[in-house]
Amino acid sequence: MPQINCSFCGRRKNEVMLLLSGIDSHICNYCIEQGHQVVLEEMRPRRSEPTEIHINLIKPVDMKRHLDQYVIGQDDAKKAITVAVYNHYKRLMQPRTTDDVTIEKSNIIMVGETGTGKTYLAKTIAKILEVPFCVADATVITEAGYVGEDVETILTRLLQAADYDVEAAERGIVYIDEIDKIARKSDNPSITRDVSGEGVQQALLKLLEGSVVNVPPQGGRKHPDQRLIALNTENILFICGGAFDGIERHITKRINTRPIGFSGDRRLNDTFEKGHLMRYISVLDLKSYGLIPELIGRLPVLTHLEPLDRNALMQILTQPKNAITKQYNKLFQMEGIKLDWDQTALDYIVDKALEYNLGARGLRSICESIITDAMFELPSQPGVNEFTVSLEYAHEKFGKSSTYQLRSVA
Ligand code: ADP
Repeated sequence: MPQINCSFCGRRKNEVMLLLSGIDSHICNYCIEQGHQVVLEEMRPRRSEPTEIHINLIKPVDMKRHLDQYVIGQDDAKKAITVAVYNHYKRLMQPRTTDDVTIEKSNIIMVGETGTGKTYLAKTIAKILEVPFCVADATVITEAGYVGEDVETILTRLLQAADYDVEAAERGIVYIDEIDKIARKSDNPSITRDVSGEGVQQALLKLLEGSVVNVPPQGGRKHPDQRLIALNTENILFICGGAFDGIERHITKRINTRPIGFSGDRRLNDTFEKGHLMRYISVLDLKSYGLIPELIGRLPVLTHLEPLDRNALMQILTQPKNAITKQYNKLFQMEGIKLDWDQTALDYIVDKALEYNLGARGLRSICESIITDAMFELPSQPGVNEFTVSLEYAHEKFGKSSTYQLRSVA
């Protein structure tokens, strides 16, 4: 019997997973995949053809109203972000004119403790605008040549979120988390190479400032014979966020060393207005924390998120459109069970979230540890059509759960 080969690449039948037969030729799975990529690429509208930009642009006030349905509090951050986002997309939609005014990009940096809603805010904005969105972690990126991910892989995720539609990805939003973790470790940058610090900040600059970046479509390290997709970052909105632990010290120091008599000589110390110091944050504090001036310059909108107090946590637990308790209620409802939460049980959950200092992120894992047993058992118990989470029940179940698990979500 004659040997069957792929008519395109010549691979033998035993070298491929699949070989389809045509009239008098064959094609293997590798060539089918490659062909599919080519078809996708060719079908895409040409860059030179003007494409209509579709963005669900909403005015800042309305955008905030939308956000309010999901994100509790954080009014300062919401205002700053809605205005920045609105301007960003206005800039993008403006017809090309010949006047000298070019509107610059309004990338954003958010400072706030973990679990205060930084990621959630960015994600919700992207959802409202219906643009592709991805979250990237600054700590996994290293300079090219070191172990870790190339900075371009951030854009791989955005491409994936846009289903490889380059034009859509080029108008997307990228949230870069833990930007504070790549701060320069020491004030003297020249002594040793700072692989995960300043080098990464430099690498990020390239993305933030708007340039054409070659992105590996499947992520990972770039290698020579990989096909890369060119992505222009000029209209991608970057939102960076970080907890900036200990930045209060820099804020206090800066405010206290301000010349007396200049805009009032109010002096602050570490204990004064603790928790509210963040609202005085300025770019100078980011610089003393270890972000390089070039990077700060590319993130012109600086805003902060307030720590969540008891009241805010209680609201988050019960009020937003997709509040955690509402989600469980829905899950139980699908089983035909009406779920109720005693107010004392809700208070208990908020107490624990405060105790573990995990912000709103703790709420979910605490609820989970309380209600998992019920979710496990009740679907198999016929006749149960009501279930109440009482303080005693919450106490008992949470007491049994491993607190280690809870800490690991921080
Ligand atoms: P961060 O990025 O600041 O560490 P996240 O945005 O990841 O925090 O918050 C974790 C989760 O907590 C979110 O997915 C959301 O469900 C909830 N959450 C946090 N802050 C808020 C808020 N202000 N309003 C509503 N939900 C919130």
